[in-house]
Amino acid sequence: MASGPVGVFGGTFNPVHLGHLRSAVELVELLGLDYLNLMPCARPPHREAPDCSAEDRARMVELAVRDEPRLRCDRRELRRAGASYSVDSLAELRAELGPGRSLCLVVGFDAVAALDSWHRWRALLDHAHLVVIARPGWQLPAEGDVARWLREHRARDGAALAASPAGRVLVAELRPLDISSTEIRALLAAGRSARFLLPEPVLDYIESHHLYRRGSPAHDNTGN
Ligand code: ATP
Repeated sequence: MASGPVGVFGGTFNPVHLGHLRSAVELVELLGLDYLNLMPCARPPHREAPDCSAEDRARMVELAVRDEPRLRCDRRELRRAGASYSVDSLAELRAELGPGRSLCLVVGFDAVAALDSWHRWRALLDHAHLVVIARPGWQLPAEGDVARWLREHRARDGAALAASPAGRVLVAELRPLDISSTEIRALLAAGRSARFLLPEPVLDYIESHHLYRRGSPAHDNTGN
């Protein structure tokens, strides 16, 4: 029976890239996860609505993980109405998994820097552990509420996360890959290649659906 720790990695994934995917595989192996769900955010509460639909972003995640059974796409935030709050998704996952199974929410350093703007951010640890992954160009907050809260709940290693269902914070140093969706969108909008920054099937999807190109219907409000 599958009963090991599981993880969920939320993001806009606009589009998903090798920075996300390599981190995801390394986390599965570092934490001994049974699986890690990549969970596209349908309506991000903290940023402008992405120029690419949630459906397209989810399909790209599905294409990216289709040959890696330990990674999955979790569409729950597309099915839910209203803003996509991580704490609501974690509560749903906790109800599905039962009270005893270890659940890890993965976030990057950049996301943690703004954690105190998240809806009911302290309640995240009621449902899951928090795994914070280093990201080139970003530091963990050194002072303030979030910094204190991270310190108070800090776990020594991954074993501490597997041993309990929720409530601890682990900082994971993975392979740094300086890739961002912003840069990929900018390359594509400029008519340049984004090859080898994201999986080929995702790039094929972007091309066949005319995403992120200047002047394409799905492109943001550049006025072109
Ligand atoms: P954008 O450039 O549009 O802000 P992004 O590349 O940061 O996008 P998101 O979908 O916003 O990607 O990120 C989802 C999660 O993945 C966040 O927690 C973010 O910190 C993390 N993340 C994104 N890119 C990397 C990377 N190269 N290495 C490690 N973590 C990353």
